[in-house]
Amino acid sequence: MSTLDERLTQLVEIQVMLSSSPLPGQYFQVLAEHAHRAIPHQFLAFCLKDADIEGYFLHVLSGPTNGAIPLRVYGLDEGIAGQVLKTNQTRHVADLALVENRCDDIEAVLLEMGLHSVVVVPVRQGSEPLGALYFAAADHSFSAEDVQIARLLAAGLSGSLENARLYQSLADERSTLAAVLESTRDAIIMVNQQGVVLLANPAVTKMVGLDAAALTGRIWQDAAADSFVHDLFTGSQPGLREIALSSDRVAQVAVLPVTTAYGEPVGWAAVFHDITLLKQLEQMKTTFVNTVSHDLKNPIGTIMLSADLMPRMAPLTPQQEDLRGRIINTANYMNQLVSDLLDLGKLEAGIANNLEPLDLNALIEQAVATLALQIEEKQMEVKLNLPRKVILRGDRGRMTQVLVNLISNAVKYTPAQGKVYVKTTPGAAGPLPTLENQASLTRAFVTVTVQDTGIGIAPADLPYIFDEFYRVRNEATENIKGTGLGLAIVKRIIEAHKGYIWAESVEGKGSTYSFFLPTA
Ligand code: ADP
Repeated sequence: MSTLDERLTQLVEIQVMLSSSPLPGQYFQVLAEHAHRAIPHQFLAFCLKDADIEGYFLHVLSGPTNGAIPLRVYGLDEGIAGQVLKTNQTRHVADLALVENRCDDIEAVLLEMGLHSVVVVPVRQGSEPLGALYFAAADHSFSAEDVQIARLLAAGLSGSLENARLYQSLADERSTLAAVLESTRDAIIMVNQQGVVLLANPAVTKMVGLDAAALTGRIWQDAAADSFVHDLFTGSQPGLREIALSSDRVAQVAVLPVTTAYGEPVGWAAVFHDITLLKQLEQMKTTFVNTVSHDLKNPIGTIMLSADLMPRMAPLTPQQEDLRGRIINTANYMNQLVSDLLDLGKLEAGIANNLEPLDLNALIEQAVATLALQIEEKQMEVKLNLPRKVILRGDRGRMTQVLVNLISNAVKYTPAQGKVYVKTTPGAAGPLPTLENQASLTRAFVTVTVQDTGIGIAPADLPYIFDEFYRVRNEATENIKGTGLGLAIVKRIIEAHKGYIWAESVEGKGSTYSFFLPTA
């Protein structure tokens, strides 16, 4: 008999063999061939519990049974293994002949072979029995030490089975992921931190024009040197951008950092999504809106003119005067809507190229002066805090439009006697979602803030206020007129000037609109 040291060494060697493969079939082979070095025995079987049928299968791994133990499902009330699986406790039997509820198909066969001594240890998954190892040998041959070693072996086996399960689920996940990557129409490229391509799916070939199969393992900068997307990962900044593909197609490309579940950086991924159809629809919509708005301008002009002329033809009764007022109001609203729509269309086509140095403080003062009447009517106070001279490069008309729009909104959505604060601060603050904005932060910026003490905007509405036609509808806004296009226009103008605008608000307390722009 080997010493305990030698047996433990054997046990460790078996564990190493078990952990070297992710395939359960191999574990049983290892046990069949080597388990006797740690625990001498004449018979070894693995009992696999089947939770669905409340029973177990018994697979003989080694021993001269010659098929005498039938391969069938055993109930949990059958044999020693059944008890072990039921109680999750090890059983050590010195003499099978003395055990009462033997199973004729298992224990009786072992007895016939002269195997009287049995150790059955549960193999657990978590704390639940997954199966059991069934050792048998001649009468009284298992010691307490054998039982301990059998337990250690079972613990090692359950660890390996758990690894096999994880491996299998990973492999399944991998093949699902591979199937998705193979079949998706979006092109996906992933590089590691050194810029080596880890993955490029087949769509890359079609969309980007690079041979996807030949990309993996190459440095992106070399592999894509002649391509229009060679700078895809340059600067390593996350962001979204549009890229023109060949044959008039357009893709939206998202560049994202890839990290492990533990947050360690792996590299970068770029996902190309073809948005050609969306772009075409957008273009169609713009053309349609522009044409319709243009065609509406004349009839609205005629309505306004006619309403103007009405009192000159004959004196109007109070009712007629009231009706005329309504006609003028509606025509004015329609006129505003049409001008806003045409304006949006122009902005979509790109900002006019008449950029010039602008004195920001002077623009703000002029915008407030333009709104003097409304401010006075509501007995409001507009306080300016313009601590230093700031020169911007921009389109004068457009910048004035931004300021007038924001300040007039502040006046419009603030009850009488409220206050509006306009201030400028050097630098850029606030949320910076896009790549371009982040990259350009190295330049000098100015932030303009328009704050009011008005009705505020509910958190549910706030994310949408810059959308075209979005208007908050509640009691407080019921009687305030507008087209819902003002802020959409403002946002486009700011973005066309390479700036960024955002809003904060507390319902009932007031709103703050801030934007930053690069200074000249
Ligand atoms: P509108 O023509 O309706 O004023 P805007 O695009 O300028 O359109 O604004 C969109 C919506 O955002 C408005 O309808 C209003 O509900 C809300 N809003 C804009 N500015 C303010 C503000 N200063 N205070 C409260 N709500 C505002």
